[in-house]
Amino acid sequence: MQQLVEGVHYFNNIGRTQHLQLFEKLKHRQEPEACFITCADSRIVPTLITQADPGELFIVRNVGNLVPCYGTTNNGEMAAVEYAIVELGIEDIVICGHTGCGAMKAVVSPDEPGTRSKLPSVREWLRHADATAEIMRTHYQHLSGEALYHAAAEENVLVQLEHLRTLPVIAARACSGQVRLHAWMFQIDTGEVYRYDSEAGQFERFGSDPGGPAPARRQRTNIRENGGRRIRRKSS
Ligand SMILES: [Zn+2]
Repeated sequence: MQQLVEGVHYFNNIGRTQHLQLFEKLKHRQEPEACFITCADSRIVPTLITQADPGELFIVRNVGNLVPCYGTTNNGEMAAVEYAIVELGIEDIVICGHTGCGAMKAVVSPDEPGTRSKLPSVREWLRHADATAEIMRTHYQHLSGEALYHAAAEENVLVQLEHLRTLPVIAARACSGQVRLHAWMFQIDTGEVYRYDSEAGQFERFGSDPGGPAPARRQRTNIRENGGRRIRRKSS
């Protein structure tokens, strides 16, 4: 903690002075470009991976980047998204999952010894990923270990986008393109960010690799070869 306190000392005395004009501009209002929903995991820094300044991202975080469906009691996630759309006029919502997500491990391995008794609140919260768990049981029996967790994180982002669509203000706006929903994945060990291409049915790396001959592409597990499932609605 001492290191963090020293960081605040530095920011108060030196760091903030480099942004005074921006802070002054933000004094009365915020106009973020996107609502960014991601996991509470400390290794994801939304403003770093998007190179965003203060005021540019409206960030919602929780364990597993989950979005409880509309109508769920005490749904702070939906409240935040509703505020982002109606009050702030945000038109783009990103749900960003990540590799090595402890929440996804718990989703696909719910009977790990001790999980239920040691983390009862987490277990209850992860019920909002029940659809993810069922998809994994039905379509990903052939995977195990990190490959299984990785696939779960990808599937979960898409499941949570479906949950977002249960919010009336999104249901009304997404179909007409007034609000756009984006599924992203952050790969912790490389720092790379991927986005879901609904036409290709897979996550693709943003941008091109400056050191390589072509943009990197990583094939998402082809679920159609593994029993098939519904076609995703439009997202990017
Ligand atoms: Zn996580």
